[in-house]
Amino acid sequence: MRLTALFLAASVTLAAHASPQDTVKPYTPEQVAPGTWVITGPVEEPSVKNQGFMNNPAWIIAGDQVIVIDPGSSVQAGRMVVKAIQKTTRLPVTTVYNTHVHGDHWLGNQAILDAWPKAVLIAHPDMIAKAKAGEAESWVRLMSSVTQGYTEGTRAEIPTIATTDGMVSKIGTRSFKIYSSNDAHSKTDIMIEVDNGVLFTGDNVINHAVRRMDDGTFTGNIKAIDRALALPIKVVVPGHGNTGGPAIMQAQRDFFQTLFDAVKVEYDAGKSDFEMKPVVVGKLAAFKQWDGFDAAVGKQISLAVLEIEQQ
Ligand SMILES: [Zn+2]
Repeated sequence: MRLTALFLAASVTLAAHASPQDTVKPYTPEQVAPGTWVITGPVEEPSVKNQGFMNNPAWIIAGDQVIVIDPGSSVQAGRMVVKAIQKTTRLPVTTVYNTHVHGDHWLGNQAILDAWPKAVLIAHPDMIAKAKAGEAESWVRLMSSVTQGYTEGTRAEIPTIATTDGMVSKIGTRSFKIYSSNDAHSKTDIMIEVDNGVLFTGDNVINHAVRRMDDGTFTGNIKAIDRALALPIKVVVPGHGNTGGPAIMQAQRDFFQTLFDAVKVEYDAGKSDFEMKPVVVGKLAAFKQWDGFDAAVGKQISLAVLEIEQQ
């Protein structure tokens, strides 16, 4: 009797814990330009605390429809984004751009399709290829593991339409121009320029935070930022961190260039990545307050060394 009661209690607790979660906690969207909304996610790594949500989902209201960029890291994050969109407009989402293959940006696609089944999903051709080749599934697993199962039920809805560099799409009353590259943050990156002076950079620009560069190159990322800096842009929405002006692109460029140049000097002097770290970190003093600096800078120095060796 007692054992049965215990067993029942245990299975009830287990069921409550394992039941699929509906949505991440709500965030308030901010209008960064007319008809252009951004939810600024926490500048953190995905965790139990933030329910895996930490990117910057955005949407643009263009005449009779809505265009979404990067609807979050899970179906639960995507549902939160859908609710936020519906608070700003009753118009349907027709189009979703995903900036790159990293799942923290696009596993919310599922929730968009649940709400608007006809929406089309667009990305870099290599994003689509890599997602299909296994990255999608590893990101689904990674998100579940870092949130201790919170994102369970998330399914990878991989984009079906490939875009190309320079492509301009008129969608509703707005036009969207693509700047794509194959050697920047993830080698699958697109940046999206809207004709209202807003640029969505994906993770080619992260505002005041140091994040993984394992899948990209410093030189390619700098090149991508240089193209963006030449555009007549007023508002820059980065992949993570606060929206700002072109200065946030310049800051990201300065960080990468300072790091890369410092590593090159030490490399040419015959130093190993371990030996050069104190000198390189010293030259990066202006960026020491950036989120994740201490955790990521050593890895970035090693990656820069590898990139210099390959040049
Ligand atoms: Zn990201």
